[in-house]
Amino acid sequence: LEEGARSCLLRCRHRLEEDIKPPYLMDHMISDGVMTVDEEERITTQVNQAVSLVELLLMKDNRAYISFYNALIKEKYEDLAILLFPNLPRTLTDGQKNTSDGSLSYVQAVLSEGGVPQRPVVFVSRPELLNRVREKLYRLQKDPGWITVFGMAGSGKSVLAAEAVRDHRLIEDCFPGGIHWLSIGQVEKPDLLVKIQSLCFRLEQNLDSQSLSRPPNSLDEAKERLRFLMLRKYPRTLLILDDIWDSTVLKAFDIQCRLLLTTRNRSLTDSVSGAKYEVEVESGLDESKGLEILALYTKAKVQGLPEEARSIVRECKGSPLVVSLIGALLKEKPNRWRYYLCQLQQKQFKRIRKSSSYDYDALDQAMAASIEVLPDEHQDLYKDLTVIEKDVKIPAKVLSVLWDLEQEEVEDILEEFVNKSLLFVDNNSKPYLYYLHDLQLDFLVEQNRTQLEDLHTKVVRQYQQHYRYGPPTSGDEECLYWIRFLTYHMAKANLSQELYSLMFSLDWVSIKAQIMGPAHLINDYVEFGPILDKEFQEFLSLNGHQLEQRPFPDVVQLALSQPHTSEVYRQALQQAQDRARSG
Ligand code: ADP
Repeated sequence: LEEGARSCLLRCRHRLEEDIKPPYLMDHMISDGVMTVDEEERITTQVNQAVSLVELLLMKDNRAYISFYNALIKEKYEDLAILLFPNLPRTLTDGQKNTSDGSLSYVQAVLSEGGVPQRPVVFVSRPELLNRVREKLYRLQKDPGWITVFGMAGSGKSVLAAEAVRDHRLIEDCFPGGIHWLSIGQVEKPDLLVKIQSLCFRLEQNLDSQSLSRPPNSLDEAKERLRFLMLRKYPRTLLILDDIWDSTVLKAFDIQCRLLLTTRNRSLTDSVSGAKYEVEVESGLDESKGLEILALYTKAKVQGLPEEARSIVRECKGSPLVVSLIGALLKEKPNRWRYYLCQLQQKQFKRIRKSSSYDYDALDQAMAASIEVLPDEHQDLYKDLTVIEKDVKIPAKVLSVLWDLEQEEVEDILEEFVNKSLLFVDNNSKPYLYYLHDLQLDFLVEQNRTQLEDLHTKVVRQYQQHYRYGPPTSGDEECLYWIRFLTYHMAKANLSQELYSLMFSLDWVSIKAQIMGPAHLINDYVEFGPILDKEFQEFLSLNGHQLEQRPFPDVVQLALSQPHTSEVYRQALQQAQDRARSG
């Protein structure tokens, strides 16, 4: 660490020690590669973490100082960052190809703004593949086009796509307008609409324009909005669509922009127009990369790994997901190489899956082994995650309702899951969002097939208990989850009567329409339509457009204009009378 920076740290040491909360800062520093998980763990065990963190910083190099500075900014400690700013080192000491000190933060700023996920905790680079993707990205420098990154589930496509754009030169040369990441998954049209709506919202929010326009109403409208935004406002911007299943999704993005998609299905872009390129991700890591992951987890040298290591990588078929699960297990029980190898070789989960010819055995074995080492009560909590819909990311607060635990306790448990690679965390967003890999959800659903109804019922009951004095009304992540998914859980729990009354409740309708816009509400009616009343659907199809007016219309007034025999009318009258009574 250069002198100026060092003395600056010493000078403001007390302020730092008093004010900072190390855990989040350390997360950033780890993902910058300036701090090891080991060091973090050591600090976490100290009584005064802040003191230890500053201590450690004093022993580190300029890069660590810069990363710490960036972390302060990201965690909103601007007042502290200002203290460090005058002494930010000008150059990096590790001799990285002339990255200037600004570039680390520039790349990070661009990527986190666009929601590009960070590296997994343990990460190995796959330079050859990476170069292939980057080479294709350079083809989009002058012209729009499509890049398909395809390969099997869990082969590392998303990690690769995110890594490919983590490059200062590439961003500057090709995508100065930014890079925006959109997780798609197996969506139906209404959900796709909501995703594009939120993308448009994100893009429009960054513009100076005073008034935000109302969200697009249909997929066609959304496509036109996006076309306008990309062409006029965001030229030379890259969109990354993660995990596409269906070519109809791509049609909505067929707007002559620059686009990279990850998918299991190679031929998706057949139906869209423009230049097309593709990169295949081999089904697994090659042996040396697999070994590297195991070495990183167990903090050993590749040469020093026991002989079982190779067999383990082979049993995992090089799947980075499976190797990571085993690696995390070995990290805690470093003398169980033989044991875990035998577990992988067991065939207790043989079953036929029609969705893919991929051999999931290894994954299933590894999942089972990882779950088994959790304390019993945490195994049950992990099982609760079975009911989360694919590709949905949830904040800790939702689980705090579901598990009836304090948020801090929940965060500790989730951290345990993340450390075991049983769960992943998106820490670009505030609050952090947690999610499972598709294949892990497949496993859970398969494993708990007979209990799905009960598990969904638990979600509903916990919600009802927590929100007994009224539904959530704010627009934060937690509320959004409930407003979006409560109906889904009720339907899956087979609680049709409750679903029925929920969707018939004017309160619910107006809260949902207000917070999420009408598209989702209408989606619910389409999806759960068969158990709903025809009148209600009519009311919605006639008045749906009014629900998106701002200021929000008086739903009771709208409903009062319905036929007097209808349920909607009855509820509205009731509410109007209540209002009159309470003045
Ligand atoms: P896909 O998108 O192909 O389904 P992901 O990119 O989501 O697969 O990768 C699945 C998991 O495999 C990741 O969550 C991570 O744990 C692990 N993984 C993937 N690529 C790497 C890598 N380069 N280094 C370390 N782990 C990786």
